Amino acid sequence: MRVAVDGPSGSGKSSVSKALATKHGWGYVDTGAMYRACAWFMVNNGVDVADHGAVAARIDEVDLSLGTDPAHPTISVGDVDVSSAIREVEVTDAVSSVSAVPEVRTRMVAVQRALADQLQNERGGVIMEGRDIGSAVLTEAPVKIFLTADVEARAARRAAEDAEAGRNGGGDVGSTEQRLAARDQADSSRAASPLRQVDGAVEIDATFMTLDEVVAAADSLVQAQLDAGRV
Ligand code: C5P
Repeated sequence: MRVAVDGPSGSGKSSVSKALATKHGWGYVDTGAMYRACAWFMVNNGVDVADHGAVAARIDEVDLSLGTDPAHPTISVGDVDVSSAIREVEVTDAVSSVSAVPEVRTRMVAVQRALADQLQNERGGVIMEGRDIGSAVLTEAPVKIFLTADVEARAARRAAEDAEAGRNGGGDVGSTEQRLAARDQADSSRAASPLRQVDGAVEIDATFMTLDEVVAAADSLVQAQLDAGRV
């Protein structure tokens, strides 16, 4: 089974994807973490992320490794575990610029497809979340979900997560909302694989739903494919 989960920032993709992967014993891939790790590398090495040529020139140096257990996803660059560092505001503000560089995307998509093949063989399935999973990475996925929510609801969620993690000044909703909106705008308007709802993707609007309700809605789409024997 392959499940593609796309949608804007803070819509709850990670929580839903991890819950589904745990339930079915499948691997989990957070592709946003991969782009964040690339941005972390660029910021850490003093690369001007607005200079797409400079980013493209360094991308082959980024040595990523991912832990795909939904109970404990991790990401490292070389020997450095960057799982927390990639959530800091400097990286968050740089990531949309880095992820818009075609050379970055080509490299990440190749890694993501190889990971999907590996997890499908080893664990029988993979749930991959991001912005272009249904449209560019796992175009053949039998289940494609487009998870949305109002920007206010998404900002409130993300600010609460930041407050709980003691991150980014403790989660101010107003500035979180501004940052989310700016990132969504950049991710949706870039030339290379912009965020969009692809044909065949089922939209779930999580604005007024609990996490359990969203997981149940997503799982019913998965279950329908399993029951129909299509996977
Ligand atoms: O999902 P998350 O908010 O962590 O993603 C961080 C950023 O990575 C997004 O704002 C977007 O710029 C980029 N991204 C992407 N394609 C994906 C996943 C994330 O361009 N498949």
